[in-house]
Amino acid sequence: SLSIGIVGLPNVGKSTLFNALTQNEALAANYPFATIEPNVGVVGVPDSRLPALAEMFDSAKTIPATVDFVDIAGIVSGASEGEGLGNQFLANIREADAICQVIRGFNDADVTHVAGGIEPARDIETINTELILADLQTLEKALPRLEKESKRNAKDKKAQETLAAAQAAQRVLNEGQSLSTGAAAAGIDLGLVRELNLLTAKPFLYVFNVESDELANPDVRAKLSELVAPNEAIFLDAKIEAELAELDEDEAAELMESMGQTESGLAQLARVGFDTLGLQTYLTAGPKETRAWTIPKGATAPEAAGAIHSDFQRGFIKAEIVSYDELMAAGSMQTARANGRVRMEGKEYVMQDGDVVEFRFNV
Ligand code: GDP
Repeated sequence: SLSIGIVGLPNVGKSTLFNALTQNEALAANYPFATIEPNVGVVGVPDSRLPALAEMFDSAKTIPATVDFVDIAGIVSGASEGEGLGNQFLANIREADAICQVIRGFNDADVTHVAGGIEPARDIETINTELILADLQTLEKALPRLEKESKRNAKDKKAQETLAAAQAAQRVLNEGQSLSTGAAAAGIDLGLVRELNLLTAKPFLYVFNVESDELANPDVRAKLSELVAPNEAIFLDAKIEAELAELDEDEAAELMESMGQTESGLAQLARVGFDTLGLQTYLTAGPKETRAWTIPKGATAPEAAGAIHSDFQRGFIKAEIVSYDELMAAGSMQTARANGRVRMEGKEYVMQDGDVVEFRFNV
């Protein structure tokens, strides 16, 4: 599943947000929910299609797509030089598919800001600098090995290209640029250095933790959005997220509406995260369970089957598919079939978000 590492300066609301995301009572009641490690939370992605399908199919349970959130210890300025950005931090963050930077936008005299006042642009810069320095350290360690390998295998094109990509990455980072923004312009194929798990090569999500009365303020949003463009900024109030987590769905919707929010922080994070990483979901439904599965956009039907089990991909014959919207409009599978809305698709079919699927396969 999708994993998102949460980073940010101390006292910006990371733990508050992490706890809110992972202790969502409404979700916990309906969905399987687990904590693997104290700082890793597996969170079900809210998806209104699931309860609707579960009702239609009289499913015993619903299983949502999941996002793993990893709460990573606070970064302070200069952390990469000393103990601050320790091995555990690096191990945790390297495994994440995307990095979510939490930035403090709330003013509270009782909560110390490590760098003095509230200044989001400076804070983003500080975190980015630390991640760039961490990547430079990784490259410094790796380059001697890559040089040796390229000398030893003078005819190995891949070894030469990998070394060149690592050197080019080092130049980009030395100019103070992160790889996610600078690599393309420098013509670097980041796939060549994937094994190094460079942090700034990962997709970034930016969360502004702001006061609830500023959540819907278009001026505040525009000003902060500008700092992270072209990325889509996420706005939430971590303290409100914690309150939302304790409410049932209707109450939560009411509280959000009163603040001009249409989506919880978790829903925003999942949506932007799925989008940034090019992921989508398809659905399976039956009496046993209704379930959402995560696949890359552009995945074919056999690849989608592989998300359930590799045997399904290997033995794939065909898939019976109806789009969620058409199924709901029909009111039942039977009517959708009678109306010719249920299609038989083969190996070449490219999956669409919200496809409701039954696979046929050989075992
Ligand atoms: P972390 O160090 O980034 O994990 O920050 P914490 O989540 O521990 O939060 C630091 C302090 O800020 C705690 O006292 C929180 O209650 C408080 N805090 C977190 N989010 C908000 C917020 O949105 N508004 C206000 N006023 N305080 C917050």
